Amino acid sequence: MSLRLLLTRFYALQLSALFVLVAGALAGPQIDTGYGQLPVFEFHSGFWLNLHHTLYQEARKRASLPTQGDKNAKSSSPAPPSLADPSNGLTDAERRAWEDGIAYYAANFANKDLLFSGDLTLLKSQLGDFEDCADLSGSKQKFCNAGLDPKLTRILEAAAPVYRAHLWPGHDRANRRWVLRVAPLVRQRGVGLSQRLADIYQTQWPRHKIRVDMTAYANWAGAYTTLDPLDVTISSTDGRNQGSAALEVLFHEASHGIAQPVEAAIIRECRQRDKAIPRDLWHALVFYTTGEVVRPIMASADAADSDGSGPGGSASGGPYKPYAFREGLYRRNWDNYLDLLERFWAPYLDGRATFEDAIARMVSAL
Ligand SMILES: [Zn+2]
Repeated sequence: MSLRLLLTRFYALQLSALFVLVAGALAGPQIDTGYGQLPVFEFHSGFWLNLHHTLYQEARKRASLPTQGDKNAKSSSPAPPSLADPSNGLTDAERRAWEDGIAYYAANFANKDLLFSGDLTLLKSQLGDFEDCADLSGSKQKFCNAGLDPKLTRILEAAAPVYRAHLWPGHDRANRRWVLRVAPLVRQRGVGLSQRLADIYQTQWPRHKIRVDMTAYANWAGAYTTLDPLDVTISSTDGRNQGSAALEVLFHEASHGIAQPVEAAIIRECRQRDKAIPRDLWHALVFYTTGEVVRPIMASADAADSDGSGPGGSASGGPYKPYAFREGLYRRNWDNYLDLLERFWAPYLDGRATFEDAIARMVSAL
């Protein structure tokens, strides 16, 4: 090998080492888990989406509307501090910019639902598209003009430095930590799980990776999923999403994108029998199904990780309890549905009934 070639290689190595250092220091919104490309999902921790959800959460809190954290008594990771707290050490200018942000959100968005409001779902996808941008007006780089309402652009750009200085580092860290913890299970079991769920719902899993936006706050439920395009938002600080619950939350949310055949089949059966359509049955079914499919995976993860500290670790110890059981969803609203699911849907999951028969039987027993 010539000296010149050696030197070239040496510089190339130096350059790539430098690139790794710079990339590490300026971690981009797409989260690198250290495993290379993960299957099934693409995780993001985006500045603007996190600011947006934080202002929304603060505005809802001021208006005494339901927020994430209301039912969070069991939270294993306390919610990050709120900037609204007077003891937080903001300058007067910072406090004004932040309060203006909350006031704007209170007037325009607090009464709207993050999942069902067209305005908010559009805004979420716009902010996600511009997550690499330092501003939203395009004043530094033209392609960063997000085309938002000019007043909202001003509000977000004024609140941004306050958020960046005081809350964002903690929020970003929580987002990345959540993803790092669930990554080994996604890597090992993600493809199998997605295929199993697609088979159950008699459909195809999306070909592209599903975008998951990690945010310190999501909606009151701690996670929500918008369709067209399929986009999952998960709160990294919600107590209900932590530890062994993470994998199920991830696949429950993603299942919103493929469970339409169940909803359609329930509606069809109801029409044939002239019965009122049970609006939430399909959602109870999605909870039940993800829980049952994830349960054996978590049992083996727990067995492999007896100290409970790893990705499968159940903080409370004991066998894995699916989300809807643990959070009392059936007990509170869906007692009757649980009975139907256990009698008619579980046999389908076990391969002892067909999809059509299981749905038909559930609906006729309603
Ligand atoms: Zn759901």
